[in-house]
Amino acid sequence: MDMAAMWQCNWQSLATICTDGTDGVKWGHAKGGTVTHVAEHVAPADEAVAGLTSFQPRGDHFIGIDSDGCVFDAMEIKHKECFIPATIKCWHLQAVSSLVRETAEFVNLYSDGRGLNRWLALLRVFDLLAVRPEVAQRGVRVPAGTTLRRFVASGFPLSGAGLRDYAALHPDPELDSALRWTDEVDERIADMVHDVPPFAGVRESLAAASAVADLMVVSATPVDALSREWAEHDLAGYMDLIAGQEAGTKGRHLELAAKGTYADDHILLIGDAPADRDTAAAAGVLFYPINPGSEADSWRRFRDEALDRFLTGSYAGPYQDALLAQFTALLPTTPPWRV
Ligand SMILES: [Mg+2]
Repeated sequence: MDMAAMWQCNWQSLATICTDGTDGVKWGHAKGGTVTHVAEHVAPADEAVAGLTSFQPRGDHFIGIDSDGCVFDAMEIKHKECFIPATIKCWHLQAVSSLVRETAEFVNLYSDGRGLNRWLALLRVFDLLAVRPEVAQRGVRVPAGTTLRRFVASGFPLSGAGLRDYAALHPDPELDSALRWTDEVDERIADMVHDVPPFAGVRESLAAASAVADLMVVSATPVDALSREWAEHDLAGYMDLIAGQEAGTKGRHLELAAKGTYADDHILLIGDAPADRDTAAAAGVLFYPINPGSEADSWRRFRDEALDRFLTGSYAGPYQDALLAQFTALLPTTPPWRV
């Protein structure tokens, strides 16, 4: 197996683990502008199920909408100004900083790994860096990620809290570094990421969609951050429900709130990551891509074409297929450098 194939194989096995969804659920009801429930801690699973399954439809069409990189222009600043500097610092990769930057940008922003959980993405960055000849030439040793992989495979939630709990049971210096890294990322995000606006055309699209469909935020971001962001930009009022990271997976959101309540071809997921596309496919529902780099055009197209097709039953088939082909071509599996 060549390196690219091995890397892809490893990543797929990690991504499978990622979709197991062991987290509880937090949610916020936002229609009318007021968030009525934001849990401080991960809720028990039965409460989570009740929160999403008790959702009452207003109509017969449902649209789930991702947040980061889809509605808000937050991906670039989070990765370029927060994740990447923390990675260089906490993993002692200063001597290859430009290679770390290039590799991490590819993994998190410009490849099919876009939107991947931070731990899975970090391991992918390590794996790609480890086989770059320039790294070896500079005498830099990339972390093996051995204990991080054990954590990822452990079934513990793939969050900072999950790692903390795991590390308490399995102390290891690499996990100490990982905790410093994730805390530093969060501190940098808290310090740096604010006043990030929605993409052009989002508001008009949400206004049009909320008049004809039930809308839910379907996101892997913590629900308190979601509720704050959506309210700050006066978008929460368009949404019937906000479901966040604590629900485990976006697929679970769809399963609990939409599947069986609406016809499959009356359920649409809007997202900016291949995992969003795959979530929709696995759930047997429709997907509308927000193309990275062309977000405003994507939202304009949604409002001008796709929404009406979704409502009139002409979305699935050649129209959706063409959108998916264009989206997939933007986010390759193989890096632009030789592997
Ligand atoms: Mg996204």
